[in-house]
Amino acid sequence: MTPGLLIILSGPSGTGKGTVCNILLKNSQSLYFSISMTTRPPRPEEKDGINYYFVTEKEFKELIEADAFLEWAKVYGYYYGTPRRNVEMKLAEGKDVLLEIDTQGAKKIKSNYSQGIYIFLLPPSLQELRRRIEDRGTENLEKIQERFSASSQEISEVNYYNYLTVNDLPERAAQQIKSIIEAEKCKVSRNRGLIDRLRKGEHINVHDIPFYR
Ligand code: 5GP
Repeated sequence: MTPGLLIILSGPSGTGKGTVCNILLKNSQSLYFSISMTTRPPRPEEKDGINYYFVTEKEFKELIEADAFLEWAKVYGYYYGTPRRNVEMKLAEGKDVLLEIDTQGAKKIKSNYSQGIYIFLLPPSLQELRRRIEDRGTENLEKIQERFSASSQEISEVNYYNYLTVNDLPERAAQQIKSIIEAEKCKVSRNRGLIDRLRKGEHINVHDIPFYR
């Protein structure tokens, strides 16, 4: 079976990665979202096992020791990590896996999964980014400043990514990401079996390309 695609989405805090991911997931049954683990305390609306797996620092460090993470990083003073097992299992089952992680984590993954699709989500402006972080109302002034200050460094990491899009409207950004995934699915390198089938005299059609559905 052709393994699934690993899709990595990053962007500064407040860009709206979560909203865009939710739209993508709502419109696709074949996409699996990897729920990260974090030591950050949950925000009021967040639920354990849905937004994140919330763990203590001790638990997180034990999991690092046990090599349970595909990648992990310290972001804004807390640990965040991608649990390895489900991601590897879903990819092997042919499912596409979406990771919403920071730029440090994306770089770590890239050294092992260069064939992943690395997508960077930009805000429409820095003023709008600041407004979105403030309007979320989940961080105090110091944390808002920390997150906003980190954004210019994060944006300079865009060169590690294959694609970028702008979240002026989440539906539009999600549509563009969907197009990126579809283009990747059409790559010759991913469809060599199709050419063999054609050569053997079989009829093939567009649905033989494992489209993003
Ligand atoms: P937040 O606290 O706003 O949910 O997330 C803070 C930052 O951590 C965001 O940039 C988010 O993409 C990143 N993040 C979330 N999960 C992971 C993860 O598993 N690994 C890494 N490296 N970063 C993550």
